[in-house]
Amino acid sequence: MNTLKFTKKSEVATEQHNQEVYKEKVTKIFDKNINIYIPNNLSLFITNVCNSKCFFCINSNYTNHDDSDEFYYKSLEKVLNNLSPEEFEITITGGEPTIKIERFVNTLKMCHDRGFHFRTISTDGLNLLKKYNGKEVCEYMVEYGAVHNISISRMAIYNNKEIMGCDSVTDTDIEKLAYFFNNHDAEMRMSCNLISGYVDSMDKILEYVDHYQKLGVPTVMFRELVGIKNSPKMIDVFKPSKEFKKIDYIIAEVYDVEVYEYKDYIVKHYIQKESHNTSVKNTSFRNGILREGFSGNIIKKFEEE
Ligand code: SF4
Repeated sequence: MNTLKFTKKSEVATEQHNQEVYKEKVTKIFDKNINIYIPNNLSLFITNVCNSKCFFCINSNYTNHDDSDEFYYKSLEKVLNNLSPEEFEITITGGEPTIKIERFVNTLKMCHDRGFHFRTISTDGLNLLKKYNGKEVCEYMVEYGAVHNISISRMAIYNNKEIMGCDSVTDTDIEKLAYFFNNHDAEMRMSCNLISGYVDSMDKILEYVDHYQKLGVPTVMFRELVGIKNSPKMIDVFKPSKEFKKIDYIIAEVYDVEVYEYKDYIVKHYIQKESHNTSVKNTSFRNGILREGFSGNIIKKFEEE
C-alpha cells in the first residue's frame, strides 16, 4: 500500500524506529521455526465489532463474530507468553478496538506487563475520552505505554459520516486528545484514505493537513485503498509543488521512501515494491488464531471449549 506521511519536524525525533529498516531472524513460535522480520508487527484484533460501516472495509466478513471474554483472554495470554517482546511489537486493531473498553484496557495491560512495545493503536477515536473505572481511556493508553502512532481514522474533514457511516469524533475532542497526548509524549495522528470525491487531490491533502495541524495533531497519514475499483492512486494524487524540497531517498526491502521538507513538516512518501523475500513481515491474532500476515499460514490455533 502506498502511503504519505506528514510529520511536524519537532516530532520526528519521537518516532519509535525507522519502519523502513528491518532485520531478519529464525525464531521459534510455539512448535514452528519461522523466519521473521524484526521488529515483527503483531496485529491484535480485540474485537470484530465496529461502529462504522466503511464501504472499503476488509473486515466485513467478521463483524458478527467475537470470542467470549474468557477464551479471548486465555488464548491471548498464551500467545503473549510465547512471543518475545524483543522480536514483536503490538498493533491494536479491530473492528473498533475501543468498542469493548474493558478488553481494550486489559489487553494494553497484558502487553505492557510482559514488556511489549506498542507500534500502532488504530481507532476511530470516539471512545478515547470515555471513562472506565474512573479514568479516561486515553489515560490508560499513556499508563501502559500505548503512545506511538495513535492513529485516528477520519476520511474527510466535514463529511466523514457519509463514508464511515457513523458519527465521528468531533474537532473539539480531537483538539482535547491532541493536547492530552502531546503533553504526555504520545504521538497522535490522523489517518485518511484517498477516496474519489473526498480526499482525492493534492489540494485536498494539504487542506486536510492544515485543518488537523490547527487542532494540534502532529502527524497526518494518507493511504491509497487496495482492491477497490477506480479509487485514487497515490502516484496520481501526490504532486509535490516547488515548496516540497526532496532531501532523501531511502531504499528498503518493502518500500522505497522519498523524503521531503515541506514548511515545518517532514513528508515521507512510501512507495511499495514487490518483495521476493519470503520472511514473515507481519503476524496477526484474531479469534484464537495466530497467523502469518492477516490471512497467511496458521501458526497456532486455539479452540473455544
Ligand atoms: S473503521 Fe475499520 S473496521 Fe470499522 S468498518 Fe471502517 S474499515 Fe472496517
